[in-house]
Amino acid sequence: MTRDPTIPFEATIRWIKKETRDTATYAMKITDRRLARSYRFQPGQFNMLSIPGIGEAPISISSAPEEDEILHTIRVAGDVTTHLARLRPGDAVGMRGPFGNSWPLDEVEDRDLLIVAGGLGIAPLRSVIRHILSLERHRKTGSVSAGKRFILYGAKTPKDILFRDEFPRYRRAFQVHLTVDKADPEESWKGDVGLIPTLMRHVSFNPLKSIVFLCGPEVMMQVFAKDLTARGVPPEKIFLAMERNMNCGVGLCGHCLFGPLFVCKDGPIFRLSRIADFWGVREL
Ligand SMILES: Cc1cc2nc3c(=O)[nH]c(=O)nc-3n(C[C@H](O)[C@H](O)[C@H](O)COP(=O)(O)OP(=O)(O)OC[C@H]3O[C@@H](n4cnc5c(N)ncnc54)[C@H](O)[C@@H]3O)c2cc1C
Repeated sequence: MTRDPTIPFEATIRWIKKETRDTATYAMKITDRRLARSYRFQPGQFNMLSIPGIGEAPISISSAPEEDEILHTIRVAGDVTTHLARLRPGDAVGMRGPFGNSWPLDEVEDRDLLIVAGGLGIAPLRSVIRHILSLERHRKTGSVSAGKRFILYGAKTPKDILFRDEFPRYRRAFQVHLTVDKADPEESWKGDVGLIPTLMRHVSFNPLKSIVFLCGPEVMMQVFAKDLTARGVPPEKIFLAMERNMNCGVGLCGHCLFGPLFVCKDGPIFRLSRIADFWGVREL
């Protein structure tokens, strides 16, 4: 019997890791064992998490599909996320999903891969990073790409950098470059200071044979997408994850309409060439 995607199931919080002052990672396990065994997702997809009587919010999955627990990295923004932040290990939440499409790993081939994140945008990208690391470790299908691999990540200050303790592991498969908008006087920051495009000076890649996965604040993605196309990266090979308010997650309520597309079911990941005509137009 197929499950009704509009009806939440229960997931239990296993552990919580505080990442920054307003963001934490929640490891969850679907309570029903049969459902837990059949639940599958791809990097880039999201779940709708709910608190009874409060509401529901779309949250990306920040773990890889191979992992035992489903991780969500959540920043306190409003009602649902404030209540989620009050929960403790052992507490239950409502979950629906997985929803949306995924990062197109099948298009990486022998291209240079640039994974570019701003702020919390690293959450859905962490899923694909950890998945690539896992594929490499097990060499299931050989190397994911024969090209070069980069992670470019920017945060407001060094204290806002997410998953900092994981970067040494990422460096086994990627060249990692970090930047902050503002260096923190209390920390001896040795990385770059400036917006993410400034990191491009560290990166030597073949624009025509590259593919880019991009997630972050919309204005940052617009600036960066423009920079990439000016460098000659084909718009069909630039993929961006969009964020819009949504209620149903399955293309029924229309809240997340983005031009002619639904962020929930046509996205959240879009090829730049598919959205370029209407992206950035007011009210879309
Ligand atoms: C596909 C997708 C993936 C996402 N992944 C993540 C993720 O991995 N982690 C994460 O933390 N977030 C993620 N988000 C964002 C998250 O879903 C939103 O921040 C969501 O709105 C949080 O729900 P909330 O009830 O806590 O906040 P809301 O109550 O919806 O508030 C969100 C923002 O709107 C403002 N606001 C609320 N009500 C009003 C009002 N009446 N007037 C003006 N402003 C108002 C709040 O101040 C706040 O800034 C994702 C969103 C999408 C679409």
